[in-house]
Amino acid sequence: MSDLFFTVDVFKKEISIFKFSSLTVHHEKTLASKFTFDDMIYMSEDYVKGEYQKKMQEICNLMLKYVDIEKSKNEKITDLKVQLETEFGKNILAITCLSILFRTYQAQRDHLVHLGIFKAFKDGITKKITLEAKSIIENKFKELTDAIDMLIKCSENNFQQIPESTFMSDNGYIFECNKRQISMLYSLNESIDPLIHIFLTNLFIGNLKVFTCKNCRKRYFSNTDVGYCPDIKCQEEKDKELRKKNRMNRKKNEYTNLSDTLSNYTRQLKYKLTLTGVSEDVIAVYDAEKSSCLYNVKMQISTYQDCERPIDDDLISYIEEQKGHIKALYDSLSKQKGTEQ
Ligand SMILES: [Zn+2]
Repeated sequence: MSDLFFTVDVFKKEISIFKFSSLTVHHEKTLASKFTFDDMIYMSEDYVKGEYQKKMQEICNLMLKYVDIEKSKNEKITDLKVQLETEFGKNILAITCLSILFRTYQAQRDHLVHLGIFKAFKDGITKKITLEAKSIIENKFKELTDAIDMLIKCSENNFQQIPESTFMSDNGYIFECNKRQISMLYSLNESIDPLIHIFLTNLFIGNLKVFTCKNCRKRYFSNTDVGYCPDIKCQEEKDKELRKKNRMNRKKNEYTNLSDTLSNYTRQLKYKLTLTGVSEDVIAVYDAEKSSCLYNVKMQISTYQDCERPIDDDLISYIEEQKGHIKALYDSLSKQKGTEQ
């Protein structure tokens, strides 16, 4: 069985789980899974809704029943573990708990096999050893359940109250693998506590708070309320809303509105002009005159805007005059198709 470790990146808000085949010989690690801090929220919500706890209880009961009996029953547990791994699917929290419980069971099982203890030949001492093995498995199950319950509780109050025990927890599980990369590795072989405690500590270090996405209503971690979660679809919604807001702001601005209206009008005329089939030279003449007109109008508007002078008849008639000028230009240019040929 390979060893499991994880690293935390507080800046990317990511947790990576690695597998080591042999720690003493090779220090090379393979990435087993990667998930975000937000996924920790989703996984704890999923844990509450799913049947993870019930299924963990079932496999634990079987372990207690079969730890000290013949080999075939042991295979049953291995099969069930594989089946549950598939069922637990993407909930890495649940899969990790399962892996830790199984590891504990396997260690106790190996211990009993090593001592040659089987149900059929029990005396006082072997009975005591068997009971001890069972209580180790049972305690591990309880410890895992308590840790997940604690995470769920934190999640339910948006991680606003992180238990003090998190900051006082024993750092014995820290394993510094590669100091050059300053990537601290934490063991996930014996307990789920490191994952939960280090995660909670990092929320504190990163000053991360929980917000609700305006689009999908899922919760996400951020330093400030940015409206939307990092999901691509929600980010697209955010861009859409931003564009809408900009449009609205622009509309609100009546000065800009004036020049926009004229600009739209000249664009429509240009489109009509191209439909008449005139040459590019003619279009260029139109473009040059249009740009100069728009420039004049914008300059005129800005003299009003700069001193917050209200729009008056003078300005309106100036714009109308420029508009008429462009219209006259369009009329004469659109007739040039015939003369060109
Ligand atoms: Zn979202």
